[in-house]
Amino acid sequence: MAVASIGEQPLVVIKDLYKHFPLKQAILDVIARKPALSVRAVDGVSLVIKQGETLGLVGESGCGKSTLAKAILRLEEPDKGTVLFNGKDITHISRQEFRGHRRHMQMVFQDPYSSLNPRLSVREMLIEAMTVHKVCAPKDAEARVAELMAMVGMNIAAADRFPGEFSGGQRQRLGIARALAVDPLFIIADEPVSALDVSIQAQVINLLQDLQENLHLTLLFVSHDLRVIRHITHRVAVMYLGKVVELAPTQELFERPLHPYTKVLAAAAPVLDPRVRHREYAIEGEPPSPIHIPTGCRFHPRCVRARDICKASEPELQEVAPGRTVACHFWGQ
Ligand code: SF4
Repeated sequence: MAVASIGEQPLVVIKDLYKHFPLKQAILDVIARKPALSVRAVDGVSLVIKQGETLGLVGESGCGKSTLAKAILRLEEPDKGTVLFNGKDITHISRQEFRGHRRHMQMVFQDPYSSLNPRLSVREMLIEAMTVHKVCAPKDAEARVAELMAMVGMNIAAADRFPGEFSGGQRQRLGIARALAVDPLFIIADEPVSALDVSIQAQVINLLQDLQENLHLTLLFVSHDLRVIRHITHRVAVMYLGKVVELAPTQELFERPLHPYTKVLAAAAPVLDPRVRHREYAIEGEPPSPIHIPTGCRFHPRCVRARDICKASEPELQEVAPGRTVACHFWGQ
């Protein structure tokens, strides 16, 4: 992987972020005064995303990575914690003030169709985005549309067509053009290729990688797919049941994973090659419910290294080498 120069300056700083979803209680449980339950999707995440890097966020389905992505952009309001963007707290400001920052932070979704207005042509959609955020004078809008289409590898003739007329891969390119239309500094790509055919995935991944390098974008790349994460990211944060359990430069993480969960993921990570069939990683047992999170280390029911202390005491995320953090009592063994 070509590694672009990454600044050490943080662009996004996430501090102890929480997002729980309370469950509706049955009336009998209320009468019996049973404690209310909630899905602890994001359960105390702290993370720094550096300017100009692609940070991967990986974990099994349901580990909270998409909720974390949405909580950063306040598409889900966090319950607790802070997100700093360019040094500014964007969690505890009014929605109106937040809108002023929002154009710098865009999202590319798994299903681009849901984020594209089916009633607008591509041209109208891009011009609308630029107009709402006042990023381009009306006289320059046409030239900017042509530039955006070229950036995502689409012919300008396609600008007069509607989202429903495109294939999945083309729609994802348009979703990326829509995100780029407002000149963002930071893009969250949430499973951007998981709905695409394997043969198309590599094209969209390469496009995102080129754009990130050429425009010096900061990217949070959310995926359950380790092939993709390995190919495109500079660093990786591994999430398990609402928490980050390991953070490391990508190559180090795959070559020398420290957390037992990461070891299983990394051992099963295939390469990004359409000729190679994707293997799912296999871990003993089902992931526990994010409603009933295990005591102590939340990975202990599935961990081959678990000892008594793991059931009683939750390991802190600690720095164990420059740029490497891990949450495991026995990470060095
Ligand atoms: Fe496994 Fe214990 Fe480390 Fe948790 S703290 S990952 S249970 S060894």
